[in-house]
Amino acid sequence: MNIILLAPPAAGKGTQAKFLENEYHLNHLSTGDLLRQVAREDSELGQKVKETLSNGNLVSDEIIFQLIDHYMAETKNHQFLFDGFPRNILQAQTLDDILSERCEKIDAVFLLDVTEECLKKRITGRRLCKNCGAIYNVTEPSLKPKNESICDKCGHELYQREDDNEKSFEIRYREYKKQTEPLIEYYRKQNKLYSIDSMAKAEEVFHRITSIIEKEMIK
Ligand SMILES: [Zn+2]
Repeated sequence: MNIILLAPPAAGKGTQAKFLENEYHLNHLSTGDLLRQVAREDSELGQKVKETLSNGNLVSDEIIFQLIDHYMAETKNHQFLFDGFPRNILQAQTLDDILSERCEKIDAVFLLDVTEECLKKRITGRRLCKNCGAIYNVTEPSLKPKNESICDKCGHELYQREDDNEKSFEIRYREYKKQTEPLIEYYRKQNKLYSIDSMAKAEEVFHRITSIIEKEMIK
């Protein structure tokens, strides 16, 4: 089973990826993580990626394909959860090609559907712990820390990520829309797209995803 997760910023993609990874023993293939990992390696490719990233440039599609191909060849368990990839139609088509060379395919694409208004609220209310990484949200009663600036778990100070503001959200959201809309169409035409209402608690969203997987994919 190979799955793609598509989601706007702050829709809870990281949480769902973790749930899915554990439940179905999928390899979570995050291109962001993969790039950071390769950049630390002492190889020609590592050097190239490191330079590109530190110059603030986007890594080319070609390098991304190379990485994914390499990662898939090295991984024994061939069940992938793609996160942050594909980002455009060319990448989606190439991924289809890479998979079909291995007699595999994408089985489902889950789109976490959350309104823009709700995402904005989540982003601007998000607080993180400097010490233990715990995540809170001051706009949501169930995720609110007892004291807005102190971590409930370890007592350290909470902070707001620099790009967790309305202006930066709008830029990220527009970029997401531009990139993702053609992909939604691409996978919808292949009957692989499942839009998941994700305005609920993470556990409920996960339940919606697993119901589809059990019903449609696990025979
Ligand atoms: Zn903490």
